Amino acid sequence: MNALAATSRNFKQAAKLLGLDSKLEKSLLIPFREIKVECTIPKDDGTLASYVGFRVQHDNARGPMKGGIRYHHEVDPDEVNALAQLMTWKTAVANIPYGGAKGGIGCSPGDLSISELERLTRVFTQKIHDLIGIHTDVPAPDMGTNAQTMAWILDEYSKFHGYSPAVVTGKPVDLGGSLGRDAATGRGVLFATEALLAEHGKGIAGQRFVIQGFGNVGSWAAQLITEAGGKVIAISDVTGAVKNTNGIDIAKLMKHSAENRGIKGFDGGDAVDPTSLLTEECDVLIPAALGGVINKDNADAIKAKYIIEAANHPTDPEADEILAKKGVLILPDILANSGGVTVSYFEWVQNIQGFMWDEEKVNRELKTYMTRAFRDTKEMCRSHHCDLRMGAFTLGVNRVARATVLRGWEA
Ligand code: GLU
Repeated sequence: MNALAATSRNFKQAAKLLGLDSKLEKSLLIPFREIKVECTIPKDDGTLASYVGFRVQHDNARGPMKGGIRYHHEVDPDEVNALAQLMTWKTAVANIPYGGAKGGIGCSPGDLSISELERLTRVFTQKIHDLIGIHTDVPAPDMGTNAQTMAWILDEYSKFHGYSPAVVTGKPVDLGGSLGRDAATGRGVLFATEALLAEHGKGIAGQRFVIQGFGNVGSWAAQLITEAGGKVIAISDVTGAVKNTNGIDIAKLMKHSAENRGIKGFDGGDAVDPTSLLTEECDVLIPAALGGVINKDNADAIKAKYIIEAANHPTDPEADEILAKKGVLILPDILANSGGVTVSYFEWVQNIQGFMWDEEKVNRELKTYMTRAFRDTKEMCRSHHCDLRMGAFTLGVNRVARATVLRGWEA
């Protein structure tokens, strides 16, 4: 199912559970602003290349709009729109004072040189600098972008508006980035998984994990889960997949992946087909890559007892229904991966205060926020007799709806 259709379907179901006014429901779904820009840059070989960039600003009822910018060849306006909407509900679930936005450029970052990526990022920033800002819209990294990308945006933005570190989060620490931000989404996944398992009298130790994706989120989740005593038995990235039922040596895999630009060829386990990874026998499955990977075609074959959505919208609504019948518990994206944007908020707060927290404080506060978001979600599950996805959606949508009404949305 198309990402926007899937996200809107979840939203509408939540609106129904909440008994939301139909006009309010309609207005919450419509994005505040959709920006599309052409970014033309000279390539290293002297030719010109043009890329389409998007920024969708979905909602600002609870504060400045917030969300990542992704560089990926599959970026399309519908998907960016869906991801922006998810950010609105996610920041509300995390109870941080933000709305939601998302951006993207349709490009294959692996095929561009560092200087081409820098030129592309600067041109994109020149085209949107008037529409982002510390109190309007604050970008961050996402798939295919990183701290260096944020440094270029910060520098380009500052040429127009003066030095403004708080205009982006996920920056290098040397430019005002927060300690702990790089690991934050993965660490948040760990805390959320701990909270879910604890409800069932279990801990991370002794559980078998399968992780799809070995980028920022997947690799940090794998490291932290291993440190906490969990056993990562299979893991994949775009180059391949590896399986070892005795547990994969994640530190060794990190080294291999850095040296070989991917998992492929790693000798610490058996090479397996990446397409069958999601249906491997395990206790906890963590999709940490693209959207829509768990769908009606593979849902029935999934053997995990728990799915932790480290990626954004990895599960289609049709798959949700199949998995619910099988008794698989799903911790939804807007809760499970909210650790990234939560530490982005801590970074923004530190920039505005001009004061730096130590990493221990960042991690401690992150745990408090993740645990609270889980507890608030469970409370919605109880009062609306719904699953965790609808618990999180009703929690997020209700907070945004309340803020919208308080601000006087019909005026
Ligand atoms: N891209 C991340 C997400 O999808 C982080 C966004 C942010 O920190 O603003 O949640």
